[in-house]
Amino acid sequence: MTSYPPAPEFAAQANADAALYERARADRDGFWAEQANRLHWHKPFTEVLDWTDAPVARWFGDGELNVAYNCLDRHVIDGHGDQVAIHWEGEPGDSRAITYAELLDEVCRAANTFTALGLVPGDRVAIYMPMVPEAIVTMLACARLGLTHSVVFAGFSPTALRQRVDDAEARLIVTTDGQWRRGKPAALKYAVDEALGSDPSSVEHVLVVRRVGLDVPWTEVRDLWWDETVAAASPSHEAQPFPAEHPLFILYTSGTTGKPKGILHTTGGYLTQTAYTHHNVFDHKPGHDIYWCTADIGWVTGHSYIVYGPLANRATQVVYEGTPNSPDEHRHFQIIEKYGVTIYYTAPTLIRTFMKWGRDIPDAHDLSTLRLLGSVGEPINPEAWRWYREVFGANNTPIVDTWWQTETGAIMIAPLPGVTAAKPGAAMGPLPGISAQVVDDDGTPVGSDESGLLVLDQPWPSMLRGIWNDMDRYRETYWQRFASEGWYFAGDGAKLDADGDLWILGRVDDVMNVSGHRISTAEVESALVGHPAVAEAAVVGASDETTGQGIVAFVILTGSAAAADALVSELKAAVSLEISPIARPREIHIVPELPKTRSGKIMRRLLRDVAEGRELGDTSTLVDPTVFEAIATA
Ligand code: ATP
Ligand code: MG
Repeated sequence: MTSYPPAPEFAAQANADAALYERARADRDGFWAEQANRLHWHKPFTEVLDWTDAPVARWFGDGELNVAYNCLDRHVIDGHGDQVAIHWEGEPGDSRAITYAELLDEVCRAANTFTALGLVPGDRVAIYMPMVPEAIVTMLACARLGLTHSVVFAGFSPTALRQRVDDAEARLIVTTDGQWRRGKPAALKYAVDEALGSDPSSVEHVLVVRRVGLDVPWTEVRDLWWDETVAAASPSHEAQPFPAEHPLFILYTSGTTGKPKGILHTTGGYLTQTAYTHHNVFDHKPGHDIYWCTADIGWVTGHSYIVYGPLANRATQVVYEGTPNSPDEHRHFQIIEKYGVTIYYTAPTLIRTFMKWGRDIPDAHDLSTLRLLGSVGEPINPEAWRWYREVFGANNTPIVDTWWQTETGAIMIAPLPGVTAAKPGAAMGPLPGISAQVVDDDGTPVGSDESGLLVLDQPWPSMLRGIWNDMDRYRETYWQRFASEGWYFAGDGAKLDADGDLWILGRVDDVMNVSGHRISTAEVESALVGHPAVAEAAVVGASDETTGQGIVAFVILTGSAAAADALVSELKAAVSLEISPIARPREIHIVPELPKTRSGKIMRRLLRDVAEGRELGDTSTLVDPTVFEAIATA
């Protein structure tokens, strides 16, 4: 397997070095204390980790800090108030450059407004907004006041919003009049009204940012305009410290394996690990880099790698409101060119979409400022990895494939740029300070070239502290599987290769069992996508009378479909050849679309429902629930 050692010029200037692993191994707590001291502590901590109440950790438990102070005030105090924090790019082509001083000012106004509304530390605030600067301002204002935010993706239905608002008992919802969707304004405040309906709820106020200029339904007293309240509020506000374990946010997982879980994160450990990983994994240099993470704030990547990690590290970043094809497929490349983006972090699904659109599009732009590329959300197939490096990275930039989860809060497994010789498709190994193992069902570590279950065998600073309102589900989901060892069960399968490097194989729930052989969805999908005619693929195991499970594949083609029958046999043969005849799909369906979550993940559990002819399970987190009509008629 070819690996890609770091370019010497990159290694020479990299933030990380191999010694980081040694330091962390020699003294884990000391290492994390050092990382925590990237932050400003109003009251310094004296203890690092308290694991006596496992599986609920306390990190830096006697320390006190303010997250917003760390992301804003201290940079302004240090003389960087004029540095651009956010180059915001609106979907219709409007843009705003917001400096750290201006962002601080806005956050203070919002904090004063929230206080005037009677909110006190520990209260919950729901945020239901597109990617506008006010969404980030709201998150930071909550953090500043010790309010716990719960961001609900703005593409979710009123029902999904209501469930999350009720679960967290939010007192305030912050929203917009509407959002831009491929050139057209779509209502959003309307959905809040529908969610609240006439049944009593915990919500006392709805604060509305004007974004698209749509008329909105209005309930006097309850509803308030941002530009009449926040804009008029005082810009001075002194940040108070909160204990390191004060709750920061609740965020629901994407629901690929079942009903979404309200993951709870706290303050000191979370900010420590997001800042540490953003610095080392992205090799971020404040004042030099132009960083762009393409995630939405509605998922954890937006929390950790748009808001908290980058701002704690004084990044200058691009935040883009729209979709990659508004007004056309050039948009991302134009933005990279316009701002001179140096670090670009996205999801494999988008890379495969770019591949499908063709390389003429990126080739029409100057992407030479890019010096590091990242991937998150799903296993990246080697084909897409190589294309990404070649087309975006001039065959030279490091690619960091970052494995983590809403639950882990920050990156856990990834190559270190400038240090690791990365392999296409492999997440490589745990970061310094993180400990992971691949074990069999009994908890015995697997050998080289074997696969098993991914576990985290040591607590980490940004780990979840529970599932909101459901600590039993917390223990059951993550800690019961290896209760006697005290390990965190990630729910993902992984393989160690002959060099001991780690490959993520996808959800354990998705692993297929064909005639007693365990086959990973990621491997079969990668083989299918390796064929030039296939743009995207999703495979599931459907029950089969003879083999236990049979592999059913759904594929999207790159161009116009050739003779479909011939292609299907060709694809089946390709999988047999690449993996083994056992992995040969029983059925391959050519479809126009795949069901995906808001974060771009394929919902295999719903495809399994289709393949087995069952009623569909929970579809509330799908981007577009109508895809099943297209799949059914394909
Ligand atoms: P739910 O837990 O509700 O089913 P989810 O797991 O999709 O939702 P997230 O927390 O957003 O919600 O996703 C984390 C999962 O994404 C990981 O467990 C893993 O399966 C997958 N993942 C993330 N990054 C990578 C990566 N770099 N390589 C492979 N898989 C990844
Ligand atoms: Mg999960």
